[in-house]
Amino acid sequence: MRYRAMAAGEGVRVIMETALTARDRVGVQDFVLLENYTSEAAFIENLRKRFKENLIYTYIGSVLVSVNPYKELEIYSKPHMDRYHGVSFYEVSPHIYAISDNVYRSMRTEGRDQCILISGESGAGKTEASKKILQYYAMTCPASEQVQKVKDRLLQSNPVLEAFGNAKTLRNDNSSRFGKYMDIQFDFKGAPVGGHILSFLLENSRVVHQNHGERNFHIFYQMIEGGEEELLQRRGLERNPQQYHYLVKGKCPRVSSLNDRDDWKAVRKALSVIGISDEEVEELLNIIASVLHLGNVQFGMEDSGGVYITTETQIMSQLLGVEGTLLNEALTYRKIITKEEELMSPLNLEQAASARDALSKAVYGRAFTWLINKLNMSLAFRDPVYPTGRCAAAIGLLDIYGFEVFQHNSFEQFCINYCNEKLQQLVIELTLKQEQDDYVAEGVTWEPVQYFNNKSICDLLEEKFKGIISVLDEECLRPGDASDITFLEKLEVTVGDHPHFVTHKLADGKTRKAIGREEFRLLHYAGEVNYNVNGFLDKNNDLLYRNLKEMMCRSENRILTQCFERDELTDQKRPETTATQFKYSLAKLMEILMSKEPSYVRCIKPNDARQPGRFDEVLIRHQVKYLGLMQSLRIRRAGFAYRRRYEVFLQRYKSLCPETWPNWQGQLAEGVATLVRHLGYQPEEYKLGRSKIFIRLPKTLFATEDALEVRK
Ligand code: ADP
Ligand code: MG
Repeated sequence: MRYRAMAAGEGVRVIMETALTARDRVGVQDFVLLENYTSEAAFIENLRKRFKENLIYTYIGSVLVSVNPYKELEIYSKPHMDRYHGVSFYEVSPHIYAISDNVYRSMRTEGRDQCILISGESGAGKTEASKKILQYYAMTCPASEQVQKVKDRLLQSNPVLEAFGNAKTLRNDNSSRFGKYMDIQFDFKGAPVGGHILSFLLENSRVVHQNHGERNFHIFYQMIEGGEEELLQRRGLERNPQQYHYLVKGKCPRVSSLNDRDDWKAVRKALSVIGISDEEVEELLNIIASVLHLGNVQFGMEDSGGVYITTETQIMSQLLGVEGTLLNEALTYRKIITKEEELMSPLNLEQAASARDALSKAVYGRAFTWLINKLNMSLAFRDPVYPTGRCAAAIGLLDIYGFEVFQHNSFEQFCINYCNEKLQQLVIELTLKQEQDDYVAEGVTWEPVQYFNNKSICDLLEEKFKGIISVLDEECLRPGDASDITFLEKLEVTVGDHPHFVTHKLADGKTRKAIGREEFRLLHYAGEVNYNVNGFLDKNNDLLYRNLKEMMCRSENRILTQCFERDELTDQKRPETTATQFKYSLAKLMEILMSKEPSYVRCIKPNDARQPGRFDEVLIRHQVKYLGLMQSLRIRRAGFAYRRRYEVFLQRYKSLCPETWPNWQGQLAEGVATLVRHLGYQPEEYKLGRSKIFIRLPKTLFATEDALEVRK
């Protein structure tokens, strides 16, 4: 036997086998230790073994992979938090708290901003992960009375954001319908003293339409189910979601896993902790109620072809803080301004319904933005001594929609997948850079890695003048016969020969059956997606008729006056389209993330039935692909499977060598060199850098681990 520490009798061999069998049973806790690291099957087998043992967390180096257990595990209590507090990352089993703690300590010791990128498909556990990280900081960071207030606000921002921005979907009963980036700011003592939230692309089409089996945003049901009698009465509401068109489209007003009444109480409390005044809450609820009333507005047709409103609008105009006659007019006519005059042109039934829905979406969407601003004011860092002072550093949490491929993919999926493509590019750049920096800093030769760079797909989407978004904007601005179909035709002309863009047309004039005539297909890094162009122009424009906007600018609702500002009316420039706004906010996000040191949490959903214990291999294989996990592993394993700082390595294994036990007095590097020589490591098996040891293959480390097991 090679290792002196193992040269012992019978008893030892038995213990050794236990250690090996344990690894066999529960797999390795870091994928870099997989012998066959390029094999996807081995990767998935390792996940499966661990999942069966309720070990939902596994590392790829410093990346945390998490599989949603779909059941409560006893691993999030205070004693668990304590176990991870201030402990070296690798001394304890993988956990979201280990990442949280490690990130926190990096921030403290290096004084550098950090960020944690959480990704995964809907229902994979991203939002839960981000909440657990926040809870960890709230529980373990030092706190004064002032800090406690900030912690409470940070924690209470979640129920508010979820009430207004989450909804039941087919995939997740509590699905976030917006992207969220949240900074937690810390002072020089390491206490959380502030926060800031950026939100991305709220899916406000949900306000007016939900697919079968899905719901509108939680807040509507919470208010109807939980609101006091008097609160509802004053807003002309009935305690029955079936009464409201906007709440019945998905045909599931109640969800067994949600308690709208209890949640309502929690949201009310959270709103007050955050410091939103009672008057503001009243106004906010007026807005929510007005949207429900708007949804019930019906139109009749006049002989002339115009329309009139057949339903009661008085309470609605009160809630919106606008004049009744103005509201009626704005819902049935459209103002057209030419050089010479202003004309009121009657809407037809379809146009009136769509004006009504556009108003509902705009009102809700802008109220959501107002709420985020309000949260930010409440979380803003205020130094009592130096009011203009800066916090020491921040940790950002990114909880954003994962790659989406449905049967039918539209503008929303296009935006979401664009976002994922950008994030993937960032992740590749940052991981490669981190790896390279590590080798260079340690003075160890860097071995270049082959990887798939998705920059050309990002260009296809966002390049100025030539990219898909540019073409879409151009069609949105073009007066005349522009339509979703002309947009598709333009795409064929401009990007038709891009290697990642395909339509039904084949070069020889034949058609490709797998792609519809109204679709284009993008070959994303994560796979192929067909997008149906129907609705692209409207969704990208998302315009309110001018008179609706004018009316809203005169609203007496104190929140709405802040949401619809008068400058908007005089501003000659067209507002940015949805896709372009999104493009800018993504660029801003990338800039923020680039300036920070990233860590990653990759969430996996084990089955579509949301059941505990079920490991659906096909589904998981897809996600391993979408998340680029094999690529992360390959990059991480390219040179050395394992690396540890000298002090960590020595601390763990010093008992295996008489010269390093119980304490090594000399230089750390010397100690490690002595230790590995004693263990019989061969020169090609490892390298010693400036502060770390690099070990090429897992089996070397396993042998050392087993030796340690024998000692115990
Ligand atoms: P996502 O944000 O990725 O769409 P969520 O974080 O909302 O997904 O998770 C969906 C559901 O899965 C949660 O409501 C919860 O029931 C369950 N879940 C997620 N993570 C965990 C976990 N770590 N432990 C127990 N249940 C979880
Ligand atoms: Mg979520």
